[in-house]
Amino acid sequence: MEYSRLVSVYESLEATSSKLEKTEIVARFLREVPEDLLDIIPSLLIGRVFPEWSELELGIGPSLLYEAVAFVCGTRASEVKGIVARAGDVGEAVEQLLARKVQLTLFARKLLVREVYEAFKKIALASGAGSQDRKVRILADLLASASPKEGKYLVRTVLGELRVGVAEGLLRDAIAQAFNVSVSAVERAYMVANDFGTVARAAKLEGEEGLARIKMEVGRPIKPMLAQLAPSIEKVFEELGSAALEIKYDGARVQIHKRGDEVKIFSRRLENVTSALPDIARRAARAIKAEEAIVEGEAVAIDPKTRRPRAFQDILRRFRRKYDVEKMMEEIPFETYLFDILYLEGEVMIDLPFEKRRQKLGEVVEEEKGKFELAEQLVTGDVKRAHEFYSRALAKGHEGMMIKNLKAPYIPGARVGYMYKVKPVMETLDLVITGALWGTGKRAGWLSSYILAARDEDTGELLEVGRVGTGVTEEQLEEFTARLKPLIEFEEAGEVRLKPSVVVEVAYQEIQRSPNYASGFALRFPRVVRIRDDKSPEEADTVQRVKELYEMQRQAR
Ligand code: AMP
Repeated sequence: MEYSRLVSVYESLEATSSKLEKTEIVARFLREVPEDLLDIIPSLLIGRVFPEWSELELGIGPSLLYEAVAFVCGTRASEVKGIVARAGDVGEAVEQLLARKVQLTLFARKLLVREVYEAFKKIALASGAGSQDRKVRILADLLASASPKEGKYLVRTVLGELRVGVAEGLLRDAIAQAFNVSVSAVERAYMVANDFGTVARAAKLEGEEGLARIKMEVGRPIKPMLAQLAPSIEKVFEELGSAALEIKYDGARVQIHKRGDEVKIFSRRLENVTSALPDIARRAARAIKAEEAIVEGEAVAIDPKTRRPRAFQDILRRFRRKYDVEKMMEEIPFETYLFDILYLEGEVMIDLPFEKRRQKLGEVVEEEKGKFELAEQLVTGDVKRAHEFYSRALAKGHEGMMIKNLKAPYIPGARVGYMYKVKPVMETLDLVITGALWGTGKRAGWLSSYILAARDEDTGELLEVGRVGTGVTEEQLEEFTARLKPLIEFEEAGEVRLKPSVVVEVAYQEIQRSPNYASGFALRFPRVVRIRDDKSPEEADTVQRVKELYEMQRQAR
């Protein structure tokens, strides 16, 4: 299939804002996609080249991209940047630039989807000395063969900003429509496979039966189920009757996959972090008494002297560590508290009620006290005991308490109220930084005010909810500037637009309705709590979540 065909689909998607129409367009297109492309095209439709859990990553930010564009168009990267700023969009700018070039040289051959994918793969695989140059060269080669329109979508894909308004939910509906299977069958298959290619292929070739046969695979991470903020302990107990209380450990989530003696550990963002966590891997290999299992827990850094949990930053330092891992392990020892099991000896566990899963977890794990154990739990229907449990958790320095529905299944990637979290402060929001302002006066030379955006669940778009500048220390200014500068796409009158990549946890006093921001909401007195390196922009809080919090806040008054 020619890449131009995919591009024409992108164009029609961009031309309509109707969800129904978009679903129809995608469904019709999927029916025409040949079998050998079904594993890659569904992801490309939502602007992803590789599945989230894949270790492949393009690793091209705006500045490398501009170099490639400049090279192809015989100009300078700074000129490209200027044109991007004027166009207000990288894709449109590249389209204009390539159109200029086309008048000089006619592109001779047609790009194929497969070829584009293979080039992306080569870019992702380039590593070591000189890899940046190689990445630029491969991308430049692609762009040299691309028509202006193709260029537009190639660069948007590279930067992870396709902007055609198709997110996971819509793609799921379209797959169902295309191959005449139920949305729930597609949804379920996607939960266990975590890969739209696999799902689309099964739907096309084997229908619902094929979808039902898709199994979890040890080694391929599952999206974690997420927690909801409890409106209050009382309200949750009213809803659930009795429930499981657990300590909410303040660490980082780990998903542990074991097959035989081999253990792989994935972060909440589904990155493979095994090599940074050999202590957890070794303990898991010993403690999990099963040939094949996938379990989940929280890795916590407890200070050996004070017995209190350490700062989140220390945990992330260990997760990111690539060398001197053993030394780091001694410096920041980890304890792991397991709280769920998703897969055991060839059987998917996620449909079992939580109480059964927890029981299985207990049966399969031989605890090592203080090192690798099950999360502390109390099953009760007594609100008073819940309050006591919560106070005790806080007194021990933990973050709070989880209240879990004993009868509920595990729904990967969903925040459905099967587990509630209770924390002392007003819920913070994890938001994406999509832009920034250069500081003035004492803050000159630093990016000092950040544009915060929440994700629209339906379209995947990032919509602004406010700007934050206060509560940032000088040290943080340095850190933020260093992190954000390479992400600059263009700037205009001191304001820069950034490739969405950095997620920050933001506290605020209140959420207000606001016609001034695209999301329709504004945060009052926002303050940065920390950078959430463990979250990707796709995991950032959604506009729908902001709305929910807004409603809750109104009810609480
Ligand atoms: P939050 O990140 O604030 O949405 O809170 C949910 C997170 O709390 C989960 O993703 C886990 O990483 C973490 N957590 C800590 N203790 C537990 C527990 N006992 N059960 C479930 N999640 C826990």
